[in-house]
Amino acid sequence: MEKEKSKAKLLQEKLCIQRKNGVLRTSEEDMKLCDEYCEGYKRFMDEAKIEREAAEYAENAAVKAGYKPFEKNMKLSAGDKVYYVNRKKAVILAHIGKEPVSKGVHIAAAHIDSPRLDLKQNPLYESEETAYFKTHYYGGIKKYQWSAIPLALHGVIIKADGTSVRVSVGEDENDPVFCVTDLLPHLAQDQMKRNASEIIRGEELNILIGSRPFRDDDVSEKVKLGIIALLNEKYGITEADFISAELEAVPAFKAKDIGFDRSMIGAYGHDDKVCAYTALTALLSCKETPEKTAVVVLTDKEETGSDGNTGLCSSYLEYFIHDLAQCFGEDGRTVLSRSECLSADVNAAFDPTFPDVLERRNCAFINYGVVVTKFTGSRGKSGTSDASAEFVGRVRRLMDDNGIVWQTGELGKVDLGGGGTVAAYIANLDVDTIDVGVPVLCMHAPYEIVSKLDVYMTYKAFEAFLSE
Ligand code: MN
Ligand code: MN
Repeated sequence: MEKEKSKAKLLQEKLCIQRKNGVLRTSEEDMKLCDEYCEGYKRFMDEAKIEREAAEYAENAAVKAGYKPFEKNMKLSAGDKVYYVNRKKAVILAHIGKEPVSKGVHIAAAHIDSPRLDLKQNPLYESEETAYFKTHYYGGIKKYQWSAIPLALHGVIIKADGTSVRVSVGEDENDPVFCVTDLLPHLAQDQMKRNASEIIRGEELNILIGSRPFRDDDVSEKVKLGIIALLNEKYGITEADFISAELEAVPAFKAKDIGFDRSMIGAYGHDDKVCAYTALTALLSCKETPEKTAVVVLTDKEETGSDGNTGLCSSYLEYFIHDLAQCFGEDGRTVLSRSECLSADVNAAFDPTFPDVLERRNCAFINYGVVVTKFTGSRGKSGTSDASAEFVGRVRRLMDDNGIVWQTGELGKVDLGGGGTVAAYIANLDVDTIDVGVPVLCMHAPYEIVSKLDVYMTYKAFEAFLSE
């Protein structure tokens, strides 16, 4: 009987998918490397909260690693490293490989914008002797989650004379922070009857920024005047300069370990800076010249649908590949047709508190490694880029051959919702593309959670793909 059982067990092991927590499939040594790697990730998350800062971080890191600005028709050969910055909000990096680009390149794509509250063009106002900023939320958020938390302000202001001034307030230990106010529960009877999407309405996402009046009896709106006087002193701006500004209110939280075992990281904007950081560091850590030219694109505007000239619906990636091909006297179209892309974005992790929205046999779990998602989209796979069986097979071998802990995933139960990533836009360029990424808890909340092991395995996956 005992022997019979073990035969079945052996057969089961041979024929059936064996589910096992990724930590138990990773050596203690590798777990140590994983934890060390994540220290760098946390520093990045505190330094680069918005797309401009992430783009600047990537540019600085690239320059440090010997990357040179890309120019049209420049002479390039194997081992050369180049980068291109698109309007300070998106970056493309390329490490020229040994094989000719006409055989295709390896692209890793991730986005560096995250959900947040943007200031309106005319944001500053005073009401009942307190000063506020009007906002317009960016990306899909549960609006109520953004009230009563500390907010920092990041971005850029273009002044009337065309000069620009950078803004970052709320990150330093001694900085002030800002806050969207909410009602006390004692008086929220009517508010609590509102639909959850309206508990805080869009026009109620007003950020409290000051309350001390300017000491002068001669004018009205003295609090507002006090604020603009302070801003004028600090940044040399007037109220009209907000019109040509991009100011983003983001949670002022720092990236922190989560759990007694420190196995997870809580931070603002894992979506999708976790894939941006892993792709970037994997490319920059390439010591040897890769076989295929390795390209990393860190894009903007994914959270609003990828439209606009810094999003991947625009042609900037396509133009870059065309220009790169031209440096070798090759045709951009040929390069694209033979290229492969890991389109990296976070996926929903199974949350035992809310088990009903995901289908357990096919969804992703934290600590089960990098997620490979064959298709996204919603309902009847609407809006999806569905990777071919051949390409999934190829990626499966890539993961297994390199000892990477990985899993499959999907974005929720079939009829429930869904969503898309930039994968479709790259696939539309005739590139073999598949979604990969890190499973996330509380996605799009001010504080999102990932597991360190999954972050590290995503890095390892990019490292394997980009060094091929
Ligand atoms: Mn994303
Ligand atoms: Mn997102």
